[in-house]
Amino acid sequence: MLDALRAGQSASRPAPPGPVSSAHSARRFASVSGWGASLHLTPEQRDFQALASDFARGRLEPHAAGWDARGEFPVAALREAAGLGFGGVYTPEDLGGSGLSRADGAVIFEALAYGDVPFAAYLTIHNMVSGIINRHGSEAVRSRYLPRLASMELLAAYCLTEPGSGSDAAAMRTVATPADGGWLISGSKAFISGGGVADVYVVMARTATGDAGGGGGGAGGGGIELGLGVPPPPPAAVSAAAAAGGGESAKAGGGGGGKGGGGGISAFIVEKGSPGLSFGPPERKMGWRMQPTCAVSFDRVFVPSGQLLGRQGEGFKIAMAALDGGRVNIAACSVGGAARALDAAAAYAGERSQFGQAVASFQASQFKLADMATRLAASRLLVASAARALDAAAPEATTAAAMAKRFATDECFAVALDAQQLLGGYGYLCDFPLERIVRDLRVHSILEGTNEVMRLVISRQLQRAAAS
Ligand SMILES: Cc1cc2nc3c(=O)[nH]c(=O)nc-3n(C[C@H](O)[C@H](O)[C@H](O)COP(=O)(O)OP(=O)(O)OC[C@H]3O[C@@H](n4cnc5c(N)ncnc54)[C@H](O)[C@@H]3O)c2cc1C
Repeated sequence: MLDALRAGQSASRPAPPGPVSSAHSARRFASVSGWGASLHLTPEQRDFQALASDFARGRLEPHAAGWDARGEFPVAALREAAGLGFGGVYTPEDLGGSGLSRADGAVIFEALAYGDVPFAAYLTIHNMVSGIINRHGSEAVRSRYLPRLASMELLAAYCLTEPGSGSDAAAMRTVATPADGGWLISGSKAFISGGGVADVYVVMARTATGDAGGGGGGAGGGGIELGLGVPPPPPAAVSAAAAAGGGESAKAGGGGGGKGGGGGISAFIVEKGSPGLSFGPPERKMGWRMQPTCAVSFDRVFVPSGQLLGRQGEGFKIAMAALDGGRVNIAACSVGGAARALDAAAAYAGERSQFGQAVASFQASQFKLADMATRLAASRLLVASAARALDAAAPEATTAAAMAKRFATDECFAVALDAQQLLGGYGYLCDFPLERIVRDLRVHSILEGTNEVMRLVISRQLQRAAAS
């Protein structure tokens, strides 16, 4: 698979417009939005970028509006993307994946999002789940699922959020109780991307066997480190720590935090078709309309013991560590969407004439475009540095991921809004891509930890640094 990525060749790859090479990539990214897109990239990364960019422009962009309008989840196109190596970006090559780094992945997801933001965003979730299984599954589980996830014969979903617990994820109520040969899961999850269509669900559930970290601790309970690579804080600071360490567990310990805290949560693989597993109707959404989002319910769903990921009680830590990568990737998708918006706006402003001159000739337009390009470039750099911190397992990786997510998703949404403004009334019409990009990027400030929670993560680290 990696060879296909490297060579830009695959059975299902559409014919490239020319030889894939670093020069080709550099040309492609010499657009208005592309400043800095290829800076600091290795020649190999430039090839991944060119491959993803060709696919995005040839196979995603022409269909994105239709998929959005019809609410169509394009499974065949996802499998084509998997044929290029994008279904198992971090999965080892001997299990059918591409064996790439976080830094490589960020480059790929940005390029794909240029063609269709929610398509790329679903791929990031699918890859996040594969990453969890690769890291925490037994050998049997890894070989059972990873090759078929890499080809996207199987699609994946990540089930953390519940109706009553979003930011305070450690307050979850879904339980897994021991049963003969495994576990019985009961409860419900909300907002699950790919829900109902996905075949493999990684589900976080409270294991009711006393491994909980102690009541009132919320995500800070149980003494787990929650991904910051630093010891848990004293009890007085637990409220902020729950958010900081857990990322999404913002109010745990401050009255929420559920019973037992993050230490009482385990992660399981649940297969579609399991008796007792059911799905709510697709949510009607502002954006991300081409991918399904729904509630997932568990009524005494039996899961064999081999489907436990990691050790019992490690599920919250697993879920939060995965979100570090997810946040960088969602940020990369924001950069890709905003790049598309900037290019559209720059082209339009050059062509549209008012008061006898091009809109682009007004200094107000020029300054707006200059600021948009600068925000985009800054977002891209922050995403790249966070991805490298994750690859290096740097102590500050969680904070870097939170900064990249907070900054890039907010700034790139603002870029898309400015782009829409530059198109005037046409920016509001569905015949132009701007209104869709705005709708699609909006949710990136909300999911995988809201941007308020990202600020808690960052400020917590600052407090620790100041106290040390
Ligand atoms: C389209 C979509 C797809 C999604 N996909 C998935 C998925 O695949 N899997 C999954 O598990 N989840 C998914 N989610 C859920 C998403 O992660 C949650 O919606 C998000 O974490 C916020 O939780 P909440 O909606 O319960 O909001 P709440 O946690 O109720 O937050 C409400 C508001 O309060 C703020 N807030 C909360 N706590 C604090 C605090 N301590 N300090 C300051 N402000 C605070 C929040 O920032 C927010 O503004 C998805 C959501 C959407 C919309």
